[in-house]
Parts: sequence; C-alpha cells; structure tokens
Amino acid sequence: MAEVEDKLKDYEIKKEGEAEILLHKKNAVFYNPVQVHNRDMSIAVLRTFVAKRKEEHEALVDKRNTSHEKNKEGETSSQNGEDASTGQQDEMDVVCEKELNKAEDQIEDLSKEATKPSWKVTRELKPPLVLEALAATGLRSLRYAREVEGLGKVVALDNDKASVEDCKRNIKFNGASAASKVEAYLVDARIHMLMHPKEFDVVDLDPYGSPSIFLDSAVQAVADGGLLMCTATDMAVLCGTNGEVCYSKYGSFPTKGKYCHEMALRILLASIESHANRYKRYIVPVLSVFMDFYIRVFVRVFTSASEIKNTPLKLSYIYQCVGCDSFHLQCLARTVPKKNNGVKHAPAIGPVVPQECSDCGKKFNIGGPIWSAPIHDQDWVVSTLTGVKSMKDRYPAYDKITSVLTTVSEF
Ligand SMILES: [Zn+2]
Repeated sequence: MAEVEDKLKDYEIKKEGEAEILLHKKNAVFYNPVQVHNRDMSIAVLRTFVAKRKEEHEALVDKRNTSHEKNKEGETSSQNGEDASTGQQDEMDVVCEKELNKAEDQIEDLSKEATKPSWKVTRELKPPLVLEALAATGLRSLRYAREVEGLGKVVALDNDKASVEDCKRNIKFNGASAASKVEAYLVDARIHMLMHPKEFDVVDLDPYGSPSIFLDSAVQAVADGGLLMCTATDMAVLCGTNGEVCYSKYGSFPTKGKYCHEMALRILLASIESHANRYKRYIVPVLSVFMDFYIRVFVRVFTSASEIKNTPLKLSYIYQCVGCDSFHLQCLARTVPKKNNGVKHAPAIGPVVPQECSDCGKKFNIGGPIWSAPIHDQDWVVSTLTGVKSMKDRYPAYDKITSVLTTVSEF
C-alpha cells in the first residue's frame, strides 16, 4: 500500500465531468483544458444518439408488430411454430427512413412465413458499443462510460504502449463500474476497425492533426445507423494554405474565402462520404462544428447501394472570384426524368459562371469538390440543445456548447 501511495505522489489528479485521471506530473501539460469543449459536445450528441436510436428501434418494432397484426387477421391456419424474428435480428438496427421502408417489405415477406399466432417482436435493443480510436489517457472514454446513460462497452485503443498503460491505470482509478465498461488495448486502431466491420455503434476519431488515414477503416467499422464522430485540427491545410496537401489528404482543393471554416467542414464531409461510398455506404451529417482551433463532424453511416448513386448531387465545385467575395457552387451532377418514370443521373451542365466575374471583372479559381448538402440535422441539433439545457450541471463547458448549438440551431 505504501508503495502505491508512493507511486501516486508522482501524479496529479485531474477531474473532468465525472471522470478522474491520473496525470504524471512530468506530463501534466498533455491535459488540454480547452478540449473539454470537444468532450462535452461529444457527450451531448452521444446522449441524443442513444435516445434517437431507442426511438427508431421502438418505431421499427411497432411497425413490425402492426404489420404482423394485419397479417394475422388474414390468417386461417398455422403451419410453422418457429419464431421467425430471430433470423432478421440484425435488420433491426437499420434505422433511416428508407431502410425502415425496406424493412417493412421484409416484414411482409417474413409475415408470410411467421404464422405463429403469438408472434411479437420482443428483441431488446443492445446498448451501443463505442470505439475510441486514439484514446491516450482514456479521459474521453471514461467520461463516455461514466456519464452517458445506456451505453454498452467503450473500447479505448491506442498505438502507444505508455498511453495504454496510463489508460489502464485510469480505468482502474475510476472504480469497478468504469472498469467493467471500458477496455483498453494496445493496437493500431486502423487494424482493429478493419477487423470489426459494422461492429461499433459509435466510432470516435480525435487525432492530433488530420484524421485522413483513419477514415477508410472507420467508415467500415460503424454499424448501420451508427455514429462517426471525427475531428480535424489541420485547419491551415483545410482552409487553403496548402491546397496541394489538402488535395492529397482529402481529395478536395480548397479555395480562399471568408467561408473558410465552413469549407473545411464540407471538405471533411465530402472525404468521409467518398470513403464510405467505396463500401456501398453513405453518410448523413447530424452536426458539424468549428470550435476553438479544430472542426468536428458527427455523421451517421448507412448502407445502401441505391442511395450512393445520389452522392454526386450532394457534392459541388466552388467558383471563387479572385478579385472579390463572389462565389458560386457547381453541383457535380443533375437528375433527368427517365422515360418510364423515375429519374437518372447525368453530368451537370456548366460552367455556372461566365469567364469574368460579373461583380468585379476578375477570373475565378475552381475548388472542391465539397459537400454541398446539409451539414446538420436540425432535429438532432434542437434535441441536443434541449438535452444540454436540461442537464446544465453535467456539462463543465455548458456556456461554450450551448452557444455553439444555439448558433447552429438558428441557421
Ligand atoms: Zn469578383
């Protein structure tokens, strides 16, 4: 015991939210107090995610049961006693509206087989699994585990041996309930994510610098309807100081305009979408913010081979006048009606600007492609803001995050 106390002398305790971590006095500088904004915002969005996921699951269960009731009315005989719900369990996590419709079709097919009179969907929604790719001291993972109700396991990864040791020490320090929820592993997060496709309901990327090398594996690790939270701190790159570096990391060329932070968000979103599309997946942004010195996006990830055909409609090039603030967006594609109903996609018609700016007569630079679809889901933003306001004491960075969320909600 004396030995333990002796060791503890080398550390100072930092408390943030409900988590406490031990910081070696030599390394205390690695605690960045401004990052509390980032963690509080993430906790707020996670709470919304847990609530929305539950609502969506309940709606799906209701739909299934209603559909079954309808089917039952028309039934005259029972041939199959098996509960057919089990084979479809994984479908239950699929939550966007389109997927719901698809699921409904499946239910109809399923109901034809499921003839047991008492058939009801009773499957419980599993608590969401969380992965933090670059966990360092584990503070963020510990806060998630201790503060967000209804979460399942939190897997905290780091590729640095000393960090994982710190993380494990901090997990123990936070008591038995934290220790039963948070697991720390020494591993390259990219490999871990690739080996666990669609397994995590939440994936959190908060690297120092660019997240670009993690995006490919992260978009594969998120479960359908799950949440990817991603930070980028390389603002100079994303804002156009090094356009060629931005292109190499994100596949988009930045222009210089007053909209620099919004453009950075839209470049990151376009890049995540591009990675997701490779695996027949697409993103739906729920919140995209610039805070302090970085950007952070919260996007849901879904799988749909037909929806990814719409991606070019969500992306645009920017024409930025070199002489004034004028800029114009050029979407990558357009829809044209098909002969027998429906629409198909065709290349856009351009350019949308003349050779010279009509305001000042100068030429245009072309940037992009950037994400030009909505960058927030207002329903999520309002729910998150309402949630934060109802739990004021639980957010150390209450003022900062309410101000950011209020601004976003007024868009
Ligand atoms: Zn101009």
